[in-house]
Amino acid sequence: MKHLLVVLIFSCFVIPLSSVKASNESNQSGELYVHFINVGQADCILIQTPQHKNILIDSGSAKTQKRALAYFHALNIESFDAVIATHPHHDHIGAMAAIMGNFYVKAFYMPDVYHYTRAFKALYDSAKRRGVMVFKAKAGSKIDVEPDVKMAIIAPLQEHHAHLNDDSFVLRLLHNKNSFLFMSDAGKQSEAELLENKSDVKADVIKIGHHGGASSTTLPFLKKVNPEAAVITSGHRSIVGYPSQSVIKRLRYLRVPIYRTDVHGTIVADSDGSRITFSFGGLKARKRMPIKNPKKGLMKKFERVTL
Ligand SMILES: [Zn+2]
Repeated sequence: MKHLLVVLIFSCFVIPLSSVKASNESNQSGELYVHFINVGQADCILIQTPQHKNILIDSGSAKTQKRALAYFHALNIESFDAVIATHPHHDHIGAMAAIMGNFYVKAFYMPDVYHYTRAFKALYDSAKRRGVMVFKAKAGSKIDVEPDVKMAIIAPLQEHHAHLNDDSFVLRLLHNKNSFLFMSDAGKQSEAELLENKSDVKADVIKIGHHGGASSTTLPFLKKVNPEAAVITSGHRSIVGYPSQSVIKRLRYLRVPIYRTDVHGTIVADSDGSRITFSFGGLKARKRMPIKNPKKGLMKKFERVTL
C-alpha cells in the first residue's frame, strides 16, 4: 500500500479541472445542481456544473451502492471529473470501488489518513487497477472547477484528531453569489478550529456534519455559517437516533429550514448563481417542498418550484 501511495498520490493545492466532454458551452440555463442522494445515513453528493462537469463528494456505503449507481446511470453519467472522499469511513467510501469500476474517474481526492478496513483497501485496489490519479489534498487546496465555480478544502486544519470524523474534509463551493458548505462528518473540534482560524465558512446552504449527530453543528459555528437552508443526510429510523433533537433545535432556533434525506428522499439544490431552488422526490416525481419557519428574506432568495 505504501508503494501505491508513492506512485499515485500527488500533493495538490490548486487543481484545474478540464471538462471530460471538452466543451466550453454552458448548459442552457447555466445552472449548477447539487444532488444530495438518499443513501440512508451516509453521504453521496453529486455536483453538476454549468459546463457539464460531474463532481462527487463521497459514495455512500456498499449497502446502497446499487441505488447510487442507478441514480448516476439515470442521469447518463459516464465519468466523474473529480471524486472526493472526505474521510475513510464506510458510509462515505463504501461504494468508491464500485464507482471506479463503473465510471471513468479522472481524479480522486482524499485526506492524508489511513484506515485499514476492507472498504479502504477495495478503494485503493480499484484506483490502482484503473490507473486513477489519487491526490492527497488538505486544507488550503482549491479545485478550480470553471470560471463561475470554485471549490476549496477548508478543513481539517490539524492532523490526526482524536476522532477520525474531525479529520474529514470540509468543502466550500461557490457558484457566483451562492455558496455551499459540505461538513462531511466534521465535529465540534474541527468547527472550533475553523472558528479560531477565522476561516470563511459563510454559506447559503450547509450540509450538516455527521448526519445531524449532536457532537457537530455547535451554535457558534452555525451562527458563523449563517445558512439559509440546511441539508441533513440521515437514515430512516436511524438506530443511533440521528439527527439529534439538539441539532434540530439549534437549526430551528436560528430559523433555518431543514431538508432531510430520511424525510424527503433525494434532495436537489439548483443554483442559478444568485438563487437556489430545492426540489425532492426523485428524478421523475419531484414535489413541492413545504418550508416551516421560513427565515426572513428567504423568499427572495429561494424559489420553490416543481421541476
Ligand atoms: Zn458519516
